[in-house]
Amino acid sequence: MKQYETVIGLEVHVELATKTKIFCGCSTEFGGAPNTHTCPVCTGMPGSLPVLNRQVVEFALKAGIAANCKINQTCRFDRKNYFYPDNPQNYQISQLYLPICRDGWVEIETSAGKKKVGIHEMHMEEDAGKLIHDEWEDCSLVDYNRSGVPLIEIVSEPDMRSAEEVTAYLEKLRHMMQYLGVSDCKLQEGSMRADVNLSVREAGSETFGTRTEMKNLNSFKAITRAIEGERERQIELLEAGKNVVQETRRWDDNKESSYAMRSKEDAKDYRYFPDPDLPPVHISDEWIRRIREEQPEMREEKIPRYQKEYGLSEYDAEILTESSRLAKLFEETAALCKNPRKTANWFMGEVLRLSKEKQILPEDISFSPGHLADLILMVEKKEISPQNARKVFEKIFDGDIDPVVYIEEKGLKIVEDKGLLESTVKRILDENPGPLAELLGGKEKVFGFFVGKMMKELKGKASPDAVREALKKETESRRDN
Ligand code: ADP
Ligand code: MG
Ligand code: ZN
Repeated sequence: MKQYETVIGLEVHVELATKTKIFCGCSTEFGGAPNTHTCPVCTGMPGSLPVLNRQVVEFALKAGIAANCKINQTCRFDRKNYFYPDNPQNYQISQLYLPICRDGWVEIETSAGKKKVGIHEMHMEEDAGKLIHDEWEDCSLVDYNRSGVPLIEIVSEPDMRSAEEVTAYLEKLRHMMQYLGVSDCKLQEGSMRADVNLSVREAGSETFGTRTEMKNLNSFKAITRAIEGERERQIELLEAGKNVVQETRRWDDNKESSYAMRSKEDAKDYRYFPDPDLPPVHISDEWIRRIREEQPEMREEKIPRYQKEYGLSEYDAEILTESSRLAKLFEETAALCKNPRKTANWFMGEVLRLSKEKQILPEDISFSPGHLADLILMVEKKEISPQNARKVFEKIFDGDIDPVVYIEEKGLKIVEDKGLLESTVKRILDENPGPLAELLGGKEKVFGFFVGKMMKELKGKASPDAVREALKKETESRRDN
């Protein structure tokens, strides 16, 4: 069989984290009762007029600048005309002729090394409503809460060659958008959606083959399987002397196969034309300069800084920056307790363990960094045993309790009561003459037995170090006698 190369380009839709919609003041919040976040504008009522949300432009600029794009300082909105019940205006407001950003790139890293993926363009557009097909009642319902939620569509060049590169590219975009605060990019919840354009060609060929576009991919695993499946399907066609038809296909992840949805439509089919209700957008040099200046530290800058400044391993730095939320919590906690290494241990250990156990995404972790910082300081000052501290942290993780108050209330604080410690040592030794004789006879193992007994007696109210010290002192004095 001939050797084939896979060629992939992605169209990625990212839902922007604005409070209100792109052309009206309705809330963008997810999960409201159907059709409650709506108004005449986002339900396409006659006579209503769109007004552009400035924050959408701000976010698109941030994303475009981070992806090394050229900014079209005069950009415009166009109407993309088509009928579908989730699209009440009968057109979607998008950008075709003058998109806000063009010609950028992002760098990805795979097992084969680093590589640049070209960004053809980024444009602003509105999302459609949602159709809910009720098979039981044999009807379809429509919810316009999502209608008019702002999106940016990021169109890559056909620069990717494998599922691994596609995954790395999507992760790169996700990290970028999250760090910029532009979107939370949750593939599962649809705030990031990827359409995969794929073609195959004989290895060494200079021209591209005919591509198909796959929709409905909502996890990295589904994307990987869809790429493998479509690559094989196209190679089989070519090997049989047939042609690949340019079409839109829907991937069914349960059946692990795709089926044709519609033949590929062209821009001209949509009769795009400039939206007469929206004036062109002018972006000043000053606006672009401000955004460049305010650009936050990105993940690829944080990873080396964590290693250099905090003395963390590359592995730890990568894990801690996996989500911008985690990185932010980590940095704030470390700054408050002034101990980045100990903080990193807590995050790599307890924070990640609990988020996994309780199935909470790092993006959704919410506790006050000050609470963990206080706890870390108390452990350092030996005011609480590490074991009890872990239990207290679970309370912080779940309900953000104040550890200082909680530890006091539950009597978990180690109070260094010298008198109590000394009298307990004496009593325990007196009560166990057999083991004591062994210890005095040089059997060091018995020391651990006494430490255990003491800790149990004092119920964590003395630190293991203090117990060991008191025990050593007392046995030594008895040996001398
Ligand atoms: P549309 O047809 O949707 O207007 P484009 O032709 O600009 O869009 O391409 C859409 C996406 O398809 C882009 O991400 C691009 O990289 C990708 N693409 C274009 N040609 C090919 C090809 N032959 N093989 C794989 N991907 C392709
Ligand atoms: Mg397209
Ligand atoms: Zn509205």
